[in-house]
Amino acid sequence: MFDTLQDRLSATFKSLRGKGRLSEADIDATCREIRIALLEADVNLAVVKEFVANVKERARGAELSQALNPAQQIVKIVNDELVAILGGETRLLRFAKRPPTVIMLAGLQGAGKTTLAGKLARWLKDSGHSPLLVAADLQRPNAVTQLQVVGQRAGVQVFAPEPGNTSASEAAGVGVGDPVGVARRSIEEAERRLFDVVVIDTAGRLGIDAELMQQAADIRDAVHPDEVLFVVDAMIGQDAVNTANAFAEGVGFDGVVLTKLDGDARGGAALSIARVTGKPIMFASNGEQVGDFDVFHPDRMASRILGMGDMLTLIEQAERTFDAEQSAKAAAKLASGGKEFGLADFLQQMQMVRKMGPLSKIFGMLPGMGEIKDQIAGIDEREVDRIEAIIQSMTPAERDDPKIIDGSRRARIARGAGVEVSAVNNLVNRFFDARKMMSAMAGGKGMPGMPGLPG
Ligand code: GDP
Repeated sequence: MFDTLQDRLSATFKSLRGKGRLSEADIDATCREIRIALLEADVNLAVVKEFVANVKERARGAELSQALNPAQQIVKIVNDELVAILGGETRLLRFAKRPPTVIMLAGLQGAGKTTLAGKLARWLKDSGHSPLLVAADLQRPNAVTQLQVVGQRAGVQVFAPEPGNTSASEAAGVGVGDPVGVARRSIEEAERRLFDVVVIDTAGRLGIDAELMQQAADIRDAVHPDEVLFVVDAMIGQDAVNTANAFAEGVGFDGVVLTKLDGDARGGAALSIARVTGKPIMFASNGEQVGDFDVFHPDRMASRILGMGDMLTLIEQAERTFDAEQSAKAAAKLASGGKEFGLADFLQQMQMVRKMGPLSKIFGMLPGMGEIKDQIAGIDEREVDRIEAIIQSMTPAERDDPKIIDGSRRARIARGAGVEVSAVNNLVNRFFDARKMMSAMAGGKGMPGMPGLPG
């Protein structure tokens, strides 16, 4: 989603490489580039202005850190500002003291609410809750059926009006069903059957209209949700911001869910919405499968936009799907600066993530992969087999401490794996780059001197 932005920013940073200090002209030129990059990504103008002004001010006053060269300082400042416009801290779901916690979804038709309801319910279930999905979208003829399918796929219960009622009112031509009543009854149902979270899917329209807002507001007043989540399609550009403002006024909401982050739109809406509405982005949806969903972390998103990867999300995904114990060990090794993270861990992680989905998606989360994105897009799964073969041709000692892999060992490994020596060199070098990057991140001091960024 943020490909062009990532490319432009990375080109801007690259042009600063090797500068001993930044002149006023350098800062101006850089800020101009950043401004263009953000505007091209369709970020809201007011947000862009504020962003660039902040970067400029901080770059001038440059909190001169000894650990960072000027180019790295700019990257750090841009990173901090990105985190800030994305909302700063991660905002987690608030659960009611007395269950059930009521979560209401609002948004335009097609925003991805129903899909999201399933993903959220599944995520809640996987985190140990017992969610009840509620079909209070009685506007679209097949919305109830759609939610039932979604619920089935997610393995969660769905509360829906009696089919008879819906068609009866339809036949009578008096609106369609009673969404407020359904929502209210669903809470009683949850209390009775001990569901601890209720996720209410409401009706959307193609555009903003007063009746829709009123219905959503009526449901809100009837069920007093703990969280109202505004669901918005990140691909609709600036309209997302307008729609958000309209919902903020008409219904009010506590947090935003961005959907379709897997799309190839420019994504500026995603970068503007938290700042413009003052509400945190709480979740992000990036695909049509029930698992394509995650808690939104501003810092991780910023890091991804800057091409620094998102190892934590990657590890969490692996953890959720696979061997929790192994993943926890890998995470601990990474957190300690990556020194103990060896090639065996790398291989293990790779084998696990391989089952997680298309490689291009996964590799996009690895540090320093921004610059080789195009290669990743055309990545050959057989290439991964090769990497596996190389690592498997190493001795355990070599996997633990790849530093010992000298010329003759490389030749032996290459023979064993049936590849050129250059392929072994490549893998080992990449691994060291990644590890350096991890240790810089874990140290918390300064920016990682990783490939693709000025170092
Ligand atoms: P609703 O009208 O708000 O309930 O929207 P739906 O849940 O019916 O979604 C509208 C369309 O968007 C469907 O075709 C979904 O499969 C698709 N969709 C929803 N979320 C995502 C997402 O994160 N990525 C992609 N690519 N498609 C999505």
